[in-house]
Amino acid sequence: MEYTSTRNSALRCSSAQAIVTGIAPDGGLFVPTEFPTLDVRELVGLTYPQTAVKVLSRYLTDYDIAFLEQSAEKVYSDANFGGKAGFVARPEENSCLLELWHGPTCAFKDYALQMMPKLLVEGKKIIGDSSMTKILVATSGDTGKAALAGYAGLEGIRIAVFYPNDGTSEVQRLQMVTQDGDNVSVYAVEGNFDDAQTGVKRAFTDEALRSALAEKGEKLSSANSINWGRLVPQIVYYFYSYASLLGSGAIREGEKIDFCVPTGNFGDILAGYYAMRMGLPVGRLICASNCNDVLTEFLSTGVYNARRPFHKTTSPSMDILVSSNLERLLYHVTGDSERVRGWMKELNETGTYTVDKQTLAAIQAVFGCGSASDAQAAQAIQELFSRTHYLMDPHTAVAWHVARGTAKKGALCVILSTADPYKFPCSVLAALGKEVPEDEFEAMRELSRATDTKAPDALAGLRDRSVRFTETIDPVCISDVALNL
Ligand SMILES: *Cc1c(COP(=O)(O)O)cnc(C)c1O
Repeated sequence: MEYTSTRNSALRCSSAQAIVTGIAPDGGLFVPTEFPTLDVRELVGLTYPQTAVKVLSRYLTDYDIAFLEQSAEKVYSDANFGGKAGFVARPEENSCLLELWHGPTCAFKDYALQMMPKLLVEGKKIIGDSSMTKILVATSGDTGKAALAGYAGLEGIRIAVFYPNDGTSEVQRLQMVTQDGDNVSVYAVEGNFDDAQTGVKRAFTDEALRSALAEKGEKLSSANSINWGRLVPQIVYYFYSYASLLGSGAIREGEKIDFCVPTGNFGDILAGYYAMRMGLPVGRLICASNCNDVLTEFLSTGVYNARRPFHKTTSPSMDILVSSNLERLLYHVTGDSERVRGWMKELNETGTYTVDKQTLAAIQAVFGCGSASDAQAAQAIQELFSRTHYLMDPHTAVAWHVARGTAKKGALCVILSTADPYKFPCSVLAALGKEVPEDEFEAMRELSRATDTKAPDALAGLRDRSVRFTETIDPVCISDVALNL
């Protein structure tokens, strides 16, 4: 299987090269040159790790199968995912929720960020790259912790995470600053998420830094979702959930089902598109946004317009105006890297671009869309809980609301549930109409009392862990940090 760039379809490379390099030299994203096929009927009865190997081995053809098997068994083990990798909850007849938050950091990003580090280390071996990889991550919360947990203790890798000192929740901050491992470091950055992200982007384009690192045999790399190694593990749970619904008799062979996905950077939902192109019977992929609804507008009108106010919402991991992975969809739909490059140039220069009618129609044939305000998401949490005693986090609630609004009669819709509700205890308590205490740990206890559910140990236990990282830096210092990491 070969890979090419969304901005230059003449380029060719292997999967290991795509994963180690991260982004193509022309600024484009790596995409496979074809879609391998996989018959979901063969997957019924397989475990999650076995399903993962079926999917991964079709894309990562230069990786040894024994390596993929060992990695999948370890990453998606019962110990690591609480025995609930790919679990589908069905609290009522027409609500199917694919719970993706039973991993070590309680958000769906674990599916990719537990696996990708292994793919990177192995990929370096495959292509004979012996340099030290330094990973820089700017985070608004979930990505930072999931990346730390994935890369901690790996040979040939160091990682630094930068979070805004006035951005994350207290739980998210503690998840990061208490991380174990000799090769990890965490910094608060003065300012908001944009300041942190701009600082990290500057370090990536800092020529002086690049040559100073090269002299020491070191390279920078990124852990964010533009890397193919983060996307490919996410295809697995679409197949796994379909196979388990088929196995339990909830759907018939060949029956098309919809997936509704709470979306930010368009990575998770794009993995569903790959699953569909590989032959999974998917009806529609429904893209759910919060009030930063740039994707809802794009999918309805063909106009992508990032020039709009940025809203902080109760679903912060979806507060994104430039959804990088959309570029991959545009490439697959048009097959035309020239046009994609043009649109991305326009986006970069003007903050907006418009696709032609034909491209829009091809996208709309697969993708539905909708958005939910914070109030609508809160109401969804309250409604489902009062009826079924099932608790959703605010990101999942956005998708639940949108799925209700766009449901087609007869089609089963699986909602991707992306975070443990205890990751956002204050918003969830408020949604249930309860008083919200100042302290987040108090809020967890309150939520536990009010709903007769239990906070995961990984979150409730944070209060007793010792803080390892306390430094706050100016974003202009990120290059220095990277050099001395
Ligand atoms: C990252 C994240 C999302 C959005 O996923 P994308 O792949 O960026 O679209 C949704 N929910 C939660 C909880 C997340 O952490």
